[in-house]
Amino acid sequence: MNLYPLAKPSITTAEEKAVVEVLRSGVLSLGPKTKEFERAFAKKAGAKYACAVSSGTAGLHLALLAAGIGKGDEVITSPFSFIASANAIMYVGGCPVFVDIAPDTYNMDAEKIEAAITKKTKAILVVHMFGQAAEMGPIMRIAKKHKLKIIEDACESIGATYCGKKAGTFGESAVFAFYPNKQMTTGEGGMIVTDSKRVYELCCSLRNQGRKEDMQWLDHERLGYNYRMDEMSAALGVAQLKRLNMFIAERRKIAQWYYAYLLKHQDVIQIPATDPKNTHTWFVYVVRLLRASVHRGAIMERLAKKGIATKPYVPSIHLFDFYRKTFKYKKGDYPVSESVSAASLALPFYVDLKKKDICVIVNELLSAVKSYGK
Ligand SMILES: *Cc1c(COP(=O)(O)O)cnc(C)c1O
Repeated sequence: MNLYPLAKPSITTAEEKAVVEVLRSGVLSLGPKTKEFERAFAKKAGAKYACAVSSGTAGLHLALLAAGIGKGDEVITSPFSFIASANAIMYVGGCPVFVDIAPDTYNMDAEKIEAAITKKTKAILVVHMFGQAAEMGPIMRIAKKHKLKIIEDACESIGATYCGKKAGTFGESAVFAFYPNKQMTTGEGGMIVTDSKRVYELCCSLRNQGRKEDMQWLDHERLGYNYRMDEMSAALGVAQLKRLNMFIAERRKIAQWYYAYLLKHQDVIQIPATDPKNTHTWFVYVVRLLRASVHRGAIMERLAKKGIATKPYVPSIHLFDFYRKTFKYKKGDYPVSESVSAASLALPFYVDLKKKDICVIVNELLSAVKSYGK
C-alpha cells in the first residue's frame, strides 16, 4: 500500500462510460473504435498511417519485420532502454548492437554510432528515452550516409519534439505504447505510425494472422500473428488521446516542481538534463544519486517505509542474464549506461500529484540520502 506509487493512470468517468459502451455494443474486436483511434492518432502524431496493436513490444516486432530485418542482420540500438527494444530485434532473428549513451540525456551517443556499423548493419532502432527525443540530426545524417533504415522506439516519448519535429516522424516507422505507466494508456496497447503505405499495409496484415487487408477470413498470404488491439482498449485510447495535451502539460508542471525543490541539492542528487533543442514530455522523473549511490537499495527501502515508491530506472540491457549468456556481454562494455543504471532512481510521477506531494517526496528523499552521504 504505497501512499505515492511510481505511476498511476488518470481515468475519468467519461472514459469508464466509453469502455462500457463498447462492452454493451457487442463488438469487442475488429470494430469501429480501433479505426477511430488509428485515424485520430495518426493525425496527432503527424503521420499518414497508424496501425493499432496489442502492445508496444508487438509494434516493435512488426515494425522490424516490415523494415525487412531478418536473420543475421545487425541493428544498432541503446543498452539503456526497456528490454523490449532489444528483444524485438531478436524476435526477427537480428542481432542488437549496442551503442553507449550520452551522460546527460541518456539517449544513444550519436558520436559513437559510426564505430559500431559493420557490413551486416541494416538499421538503427532509436530509443527516445524518458520523454526526450534522441539526437536525430546527426543520427539521420549517419543513417543516410550508410543507407541504414531508422525505426523509432517512441514508446516513452509521445508528444516529444527534436528541433520542432515530432519524435516518431523521422524514421520509416515509429512505435508508441500505452501501458498504464505511459503518458496515456489503453491498458495494454501500442501503435505503429508510418508515412509508408507499404509498411502500413504489411503491419495491418501481420497483426491479423497475415490476412489480406480486405478482412476476408479466407486467405492468408504470409505468416502473421494475433497482435490486434481490442475495442475496449481503443475506446479508452480515443478518450485518452483527447486529454494528452493536458497530461503532458501536467507532467511538465510536476517536473518543474521536482526541479525547483531539488535545484539547491545538486551536490547529492543530479536532476535530469533537458536539451534545449527538445521538448520533453516526461514519461518518468529519474534522478541520479551522487555520493549515496552505493546505498541506493537502503534508500529505496527507507522511502518505501514512508509510502514512497521508487525504482532503479533502468538497468542496462546488456547486463541482463539472458544477454550476458547469449552475447558474452560483461560489466564495463557500456560504461556510461552502466554508471547511470547504477545510480538512477525514478520518483513517483503521475498527473494527480500536487506541489505539496512533491515537497513531501523530496524532503524524504533528501533526508534518506543525507543519512548516507556523510
Ligand atoms: C513501454 C516501452 C515499450 C513497450 O512496452 P509494452 O509494455 O510492450 O507496451 C518499448 N520500449 C520502451 C523503451 C518502453 O518504455
